[in-house]
Amino acid sequence: MDAADMGADLEKVLISADEIRDKLAELAARVDEDYAGKDVLLLGVLKGAALVMSDFVRALHVPAQMDWMAISSYGSGTKSSGVVRIVKDLDTDITGRHVLIVEDIIDSGLTLSWLVANLSSRGAASVEILTLLRKPEAAKVHVDVRYTGFEIPNEFVVGYGLDFAERYRGLPFVGTLAPHVYRS
Ligand code: 5GP
Ligand code: MG
Ligand code: MG
Repeated sequence: MDAADMGADLEKVLISADEIRDKLAELAARVDEDYAGKDVLLLGVLKGAALVMSDFVRALHVPAQMDWMAISSYGSGTKSSGVVRIVKDLDTDITGRHVLIVEDIIDSGLTLSWLVANLSSRGAASVEILTLLRKPEAAKVHVDVRYTGFEIPNEFVVGYGLDFAERYRGLPFVGTLAPHVYRS
């Protein structure tokens, strides 16, 4: 799917496919340097992080394994509450492992701060976070994000893994929706 297929649903392209590719290469170079000589476990949070993960792991040179978690956070409407349920847990024993969480977007940071605490309690050697996108609201909860792709304004975005009612995840760019899509 591309911008043309979206027709009138798309308001604007916020971050292009080229910008995403260049940014992930830049972040991968930093991770290569920081994790030299270490075995890193990339932990993707389903479903949004699937596209970030697949491009990021290909840009990386250090040996990396991948695992996935699906978590659901209870909340009212579009806001998460920080009350989290594990839908699919890791298959990997992370004791002594260097875990790098790969995320699509951080909004309130509530889900993520829960995840970091959960992983640390399982005895990981280190837990760091990489996110493609970050909204200003993330400042409300303290989460140390080591690798951030883009700081974006407080707008609802779709594409590159991010959905609206499970649609638009396959877009190769990050964009905003025309108001008629979510007001109808
Ligand atoms: P929080 O950081 O508030 O705990 O939750 C972050 C999650 O909320 C993300 O993983 C994503 O699923 C969803 N989310 C937050 N902002 C947006 C957005 O602008 N667009 C989309 N599609 N999902 C978002
Ligand atoms: Mg996510
Ligand atoms: Mg969603």
